[in-house]
Amino acid sequence: MKSLTTSSLLQHLRCSQCGKTYSPFDLQTLSICCQAPLLCEYDLDRQLVSRDSLPGQVNSLWRYENVLPVFQAQNRVSLSEGFTPLLPLRRLAGRTGLQHLSLKDEGLNPTGSFKARGLSLAVSKAKENGVEACIIPTAGNAGVAMAAYCARAGLEAVVVMPQHTPDAFKEECRAYNARLVLVDGLINDCAAKVQQMNQENRYFDVSTLKEPYRLEGKKTMGYEMAEQLNWQLPDVILYPTGGGTGLIGIWKAFYEMQALGWLSADQKFPRMVAVQAENCRPIVDTFLGKQANSKTYVGKPTLANGLAVPRPIGEPLMLKVLRESAGTAVAVSEDEMIEGVSQLSAEEGIFAAPEGGAIWVATQKLLRQGWIRSDEHVLLLNTGSGQKYLDNLKGKWQLK
Ligand SMILES: *Cc1c(COP(=O)(O)O)cnc(C)c1O
Ligand SMILES: [Zn+2]
Repeated sequence: MKSLTTSSLLQHLRCSQCGKTYSPFDLQTLSICCQAPLLCEYDLDRQLVSRDSLPGQVNSLWRYENVLPVFQAQNRVSLSEGFTPLLPLRRLAGRTGLQHLSLKDEGLNPTGSFKARGLSLAVSKAKENGVEACIIPTAGNAGVAMAAYCARAGLEAVVVMPQHTPDAFKEECRAYNARLVLVDGLINDCAAKVQQMNQENRYFDVSTLKEPYRLEGKKTMGYEMAEQLNWQLPDVILYPTGGGTGLIGIWKAFYEMQALGWLSADQKFPRMVAVQAENCRPIVDTFLGKQANSKTYVGKPTLANGLAVPRPIGEPLMLKVLRESAGTAVAVSEDEMIEGVSQLSAEEGIFAAPEGGAIWVATQKLLRQGWIRSDEHVLLLNTGSGQKYLDNLKGKWQLK
């Protein structure tokens, strides 16, 4: 096959803790120096890429190929992820007195969640680096997405998921011919199982942030919202936070776009809000000073299974984003997130995942507290579709 070089500007990977650089041409996991996440750095200073060239690009996250890490076009493993709509929420805005409320609907991605963005990139780079089998500890959506992209790439897939995850997640993995391993516990217990199963390194582990490229897929949400809003960023972004890849990635995208000259020099960056479930709120507790960090945090399962990440490796990076952006962190109860899903569905026709319901409830809390002002532009990231959660949601709607 003729190999076509992409216009990726990837220069090197950098240890997020000490700054040491690593080759972008080798298979990488955590940094060897600090066992910390590695972040991609691109040659952005040249300002060679103009945002004006974007309208002619493909309608998927691959329109930003200059700032993505894949070097050879034939290694792209794509199901047309990204390029999701940004919808105004006029009825909910009117009800709450917000003047400018919008939602980016990530439920429309392949496999029904924004995990498709990250796993498209991770599996593409795995393929580029000669990997033949991938393994993942997951709360649900990431495993489904990995299984789909591995199927598309012809790679072997092993998905390790909590036993209590709704059946829809399990069946979809099986449909993609992934090997499904069920564990009694949360995602950290699944990660321990992955370690144990993979002592001989037969599989490449694509855990969030232990693998450098999922972050690069998720950062494209930041690029898209900027492009969709004609390069004017919102004032506040609410993000349902588990491992934190999206939160960290979107923030990274803002700096990259500034370096590229795609954002004006005086563009203020949004305040970033991490929304978690009361049942598993490690970032909220650390942010509020209730604990030094989440290294011994014990969480419980939640309907919003994407948020059930009790000891996220990306915690220091997430806290940095919250502090640098003058953001905050909010926890939402199980009943509240169902109410949030109900309102998004009944008032706007958007059948959000419980994670999406959670951020709408958090918005209303912050508005009541005066932390969000009614004249600010608030952007919600609905990270998944409600369809896979029906086992847990059925019968919970208010009858009319
Ligand atoms: C994984 C997931 C999240 C959390 O995403 P992180 O980037 O890990 O913080 C939120 N919502 C849904 C639907 C998810 O699947
Ligand atoms: Zn280091």
